[in-house]
Amino acid sequence: MIIPFFIPHAGCQHQCVFCSQKQITGSSGPPEPSTIAPMIEEYLASAESGDRTEVAFYGGSFTALAPDRQEAYLAPVSQFIEAGRISTIRISTRPDCVTASGISLLKRFRVTIVELGSQSMDDEVLHRSGRGHTAADTAATVALLGSEGFIIGIQIMAGLPGDRDETFLRTVEETVGLKPDFVRLYPTLVIKNTPLEELYRSGAYEPLSIDSAVDLCRQALLRFEEAGIPVIRIGLQPTAELGRPGTVLAGPYHPAFGQLVESSIFLGKMQRLLGKGSEHSSARITVHPLDLSTALGQKRSNVMALKTEYRLRSLSIAADENVPRKSVRLLTSL
Ligand code: SF4
Repeated sequence: MIIPFFIPHAGCQHQCVFCSQKQITGSSGPPEPSTIAPMIEEYLASAESGDRTEVAFYGGSFTALAPDRQEAYLAPVSQFIEAGRISTIRISTRPDCVTASGISLLKRFRVTIVELGSQSMDDEVLHRSGRGHTAADTAATVALLGSEGFIIGIQIMAGLPGDRDETFLRTVEETVGLKPDFVRLYPTLVIKNTPLEELYRSGAYEPLSIDSAVDLCRQALLRFEEAGIPVIRIGLQPTAELGRPGTVLAGPYHPAFGQLVESSIFLGKMQRLLGKGSEHSSARITVHPLDLSTALGQKRSNVMALKTEYRLRSLSIAADENVPRKSVRLLTSL
């Protein structure tokens, strides 16, 4: 279980064009440090015994906060760690806000996981997105954190201003080269009251379509999986604020975006199973029970796509617990 604390925009001296931390996190402001311990107690009261429990500080640039503010947040949590009730702390921050002295503060309070919002490894894309750091900053910080034994996560975004398919896929490749412990993938959305809204309204920015975003994230997911790097999140966590009409003005928003990406990978696997140009009148495919809804696709879109492509009279995609996760098996094909 992760106990999340959102510190929207706290510590950040920048304004990335896409950023509206309030709408993204659904949180109105940073919590007071005095509320940290009671909130943890509340979460722990509902935890299953034996659960591994982490505390996470998301949504801002944690290491850019004043050191005494960082300590005010971390000190209450470290008491739970010393008592064996919390296993570790994770924070998220910018790649250009991690210093040697900042690292020693994190280590003193037993932070072990650092997530870096790298977003792109293309300096032109970073510049046009208002990030205020370079790809070299990300590489240097990953090396520094790695040498200090931190578990490192990297967040990247598809569809940033100036990004193209090639630059995004190069970002994926360079991120693989940094060997993070895990990755998060986010498609860029146009959220109200951000600089990106102005760029979009002026015609200077065109968001990805949902199909393009799914396809780019599909390619990224496959590449990270091939490299053995877990992708722990694809697409923003849907919040009430994000779902409110008028919050997301444009872009590939879908509350189950990650499932769309996984479903498109299943579609490709089933297409390969049925064979390009092959003739079938009916087919029966099985998948692991936990993969069934993803394999079927949203509103059975994969079933309809395969039936049309292969002119199938009937197609059944069914669950079989003997099929390994993320695999597909062709049982009968006529
Ligand atoms: S670094 Fe960018 S995305 Fe992160 S909090 Fe600052 S403005 Fe928002």
